[in-house]
Amino acid sequence: MLSLYVHIPFCRKRCPYCDFYLVSGTGLLESFFLALEKETAAKADLFKAQSIGAIHFGGGTPSLAPARLLGRWLEQVAGLASFEEGIEIALEANPEDAAALPELSQAGVTRISLGVQSFSASKLRALGRAHSPVEGAEAVRAASALFGSLSVDLICGVPGEDLPAWQSDLSTAISLSPHHVSVYMLSVEPKTIMHRDVQAGSVSVPGDALQADCYRHAQNVLPAAGFVQYEISNFALPSHQSRYNLASWERQPYIGFGPSAHSFIRSPSGEVRMANTPSLSDYLLRPGSAEGFREELGGRERFIEEVFLTLRINRGLDVGFLRKAHKLGHRLSEAVAQFNAKGWMREEGGKLYLTDEGFLFADLMAEEFIP
Ligand code: SF4
Repeated sequence: MLSLYVHIPFCRKRCPYCDFYLVSGTGLLESFFLALEKETAAKADLFKAQSIGAIHFGGGTPSLAPARLLGRWLEQVAGLASFEEGIEIALEANPEDAAALPELSQAGVTRISLGVQSFSASKLRALGRAHSPVEGAEAVRAASALFGSLSVDLICGVPGEDLPAWQSDLSTAISLSPHHVSVYMLSVEPKTIMHRDVQAGSVSVPGDALQADCYRHAQNVLPAAGFVQYEISNFALPSHQSRYNLASWERQPYIGFGPSAHSFIRSPSGEVRMANTPSLSDYLLRPGSAEGFREELGGRERFIEEVFLTLRINRGLDVGFLRKAHKLGHRLSEAVAQFNAKGWMREEGGKLYLTDEGFLFADLMAEEFIP
């Protein structure tokens, strides 16, 4: 399946924990869409006459984009390629943009991923979010009535949070009947305002133990409500997985548009990963040649991606595949035995699967499997 991704790099203001590429303010939105149309025309050969299964608008805050501009771009793409029946057209939205949801639905968006983050006023304050708990819940109800698929994003491990606050967030989310819940553990990234405040001692974040408890709680209550964990951070009701995300974790091709957007394509010469310039001003100047990075994947890069991504979506990592890459087979066997003993992994039919507990350590295990 081929997917398209559009990075819309605008937010009202930067949240203190965010390190994504974005600019504050919306003054350049119209110019951005003109540039996007030029980039799309310039890249048309990559997807012309092909069938597209998913389109994802990420950001930034894509719900700031006027629906007429999104609709115009979708029409441009529809004039160049065909849309699969049941195509997923997903958009990341913030609750304070709930009034824009009806127009986004009319423009063709089929799935909304709502950045609710929490239903607690103190957590939302600590995260610097612009919406209130009531607005968050109202946005979920409004989106539920308009879109065939709705995801709610939640964050745990926020300054000041305890386990009861997280339990309350999850039960409120479940009571609002979304189709999908994403559970993120707050990570304090370098160069963010929160990192500066933590370093200065004016803010403290709960430790790993609380985050792990929050995560385990999600792994208990979400499946009890019918959600299936299909990736480290993602839980979905049947047939409500994010098609775009799942396809990219399955290493299916996608083409990215907008500043800092990544692409993954297969060409006759092999697999290629590309990224656009991470600068909006550069992008606006030369949208037709915005590529800033390109890497042809060799055998080792492909192996590393297979290991990390297969564990991430828990599809069963083939032991024979790992052994072929390991000259020191005994080291691999020791690692597998160690992870089994810790209860992080189980072996079945020659494949390694994460246990619920193992999802917490997926990346650590993947690193051990890279020779
Ligand atoms: S709204 Fe999302 S993308 Fe924008 S600054 Fe906040 S966390 Fe980052």
